Amino acid sequence: GKVIFNGHIVDREKAIIHIEDRGFQFGDGVYEVIRIYNGKPFTLKEHIDRLYASAQKIYMEIPYSKQEITDLIINLLEQENASTCNLYLQISRGVVPRNHVIPETVSPTLIGYLMPGTRPVDLMKTGGKAVITEDLRWHYCDIKSISLLGAVLAKKKATDAGCLEAILHRDGIITEGSSTNIWMVQNGKLFTHPANQFILNGITRQKVISLLDFNQLPYEETGFTVEQLQNADELFLTSTTMEIIPIVEVDGVKIGNGTPGDVTRKLQTLFEQEIEHECGH
Ligand code: PMP
Repeated sequence: GKVIFNGHIVDREKAIIHIEDRGFQFGDGVYEVIRIYNGKPFTLKEHIDRLYASAQKIYMEIPYSKQEITDLIINLLEQENASTCNLYLQISRGVVPRNHVIPETVSPTLIGYLMPGTRPVDLMKTGGKAVITEDLRWHYCDIKSISLLGAVLAKKKATDAGCLEAILHRDGIITEGSSTNIWMVQNGKLFTHPANQFILNGITRQKVISLLDFNQLPYEETGFTVEQLQNADELFLTSTTMEIIPIVEVDGVKIGNGTPGDVTRKLQTLFEQEIEHECGH
């Protein structure tokens, strides 16, 4: 297959990363995962904008325009005859002799390729389980950094417990999942952590917020406690690849009546309409 590599589309075998790429050695880079439905990217502009915002936060200048990156993606989708899959897009600082100091002149390494991935339709219906664990990541969670060791270690706690996700808290306040944003429904109102340095402001999260605004459904971007989460009427996760997944059990205890709730299912329907609207045939 073909991949995006430094401004071009090349055969996958031609895209080779240098041993002194700072992405490889320092995790010095940022990324995006973009959902492709029926060969069409969903919320592409929002993802590209966030890629540039993440890059700026790490003092990286992307040597391509947003339009150039968009064109590369569209071109790749065409050449690969994409259907429903995920696009991984990563830009790392580039190649220089190893030194912590950010080099003044360096040319970033851009890669992009399609990964297989079907929609999690079963999970969307049945819901999944989660564990709660302390958020031991850093304080720049708003940057979509490729340094993901904190997230990887948190996810291990979930998979070790036979669960889908690790829900994180800082000092008893729920932040987000290891690779998802988390939402609580209590008495018909939705709650999610504010978009600050303690969470990644998910594109799916932002899409859900716009759906709530449009449909005049009550919500608050406010932190809530572990105890509130345990006593929630409904919980669900959002992310690009997971979309909207009900969480029906936390640390072995049922949430609500242990099945996906009405508000969650209503949002799934509204989200489905967004996908259809943007990427339908
Ligand atoms: N939070 C974290 C920590 C994530 O890694 C992700 C997905 N990569 C999200 C939230 C969800 O973001 P999005 O909806 O943009 O995929």
